[in-house]
Amino acid sequence: MTRSLKVSEVFESIQGEGASAGEPAVFLRLATCNLHCSWCDTKYTWDFNNHAYEAEVTTRLVDDVWRQIKAATARRLVVTGGEPLLQQAGLAQLIHQLSTDHFVEVETNGTLEPKPELSRRVDQWNVSPKLSGSGNRPGLRIRPRALAALAATGRAWLKLVVADESDVLEAEQLIGELAWPKARVLFMPQARTRRELALRAPFVESAARARGVGVSPRLHVERWDGRRGT
Ligand code: SF4
Repeated sequence: MTRSLKVSEVFESIQGEGASAGEPAVFLRLATCNLHCSWCDTKYTWDFNNHAYEAEVTTRLVDDVWRQIKAATARRLVVTGGEPLLQQAGLAQLIHQLSTDHFVEVETNGTLEPKPELSRRVDQWNVSPKLSGSGNRPGLRIRPRALAALAATGRAWLKLVVADESDVLEAEQLIGELAWPKARVLFMPQARTRRELALRAPFVESAARARGVGVSPRLHVERWDGRRGT
């Protein structure tokens, strides 16, 4: 049975964040999210009070999406959202149809456990649990079982969006509670514009250095000021 996916957009660019920043990639942005972060820069994937669902979301057969990804130049697929793990069955079908020369990254907010049929074909998980500044309730945004399952794959990076000292303290506590290896932790400045990035990056870089974790750039914000689809 061919499944379908609720798709926001598909485009080619470079990976702008995380451990593989700078790599050419084809992006599959899936629609809908189970969190509502106040500073979310992709609200068009889930905030249908302010964005028209019919204009923003297309329900497409997996085969149709697969053909588009296969035709792209990049051999790195970045699945992002929204929250991609809300559509695990369709996503698993899609990535299993890709040949093994495709490297598959999935970005997730870390609230949902990946099913084995999906997880075994994912080469890299970019896990970004949300801190209290996101405006989501703690019981919704931090799901220890899901985070432990992602960590147990051995292919996951923890990417924490931080804006100030209180975020850094909260991030530090979370890293300790999860016992996540620091070599696989990145702090990333909260920034939707070049200006915000320029203001926050120096603080975030020095906070990361002091705690022995890495820093993720935000190349899309740096180069294109966060313009959609870049
Ligand atoms: S989890 Fe990601 S996509 Fe969902 S609201 Fe938060 S920032 Fe936006």
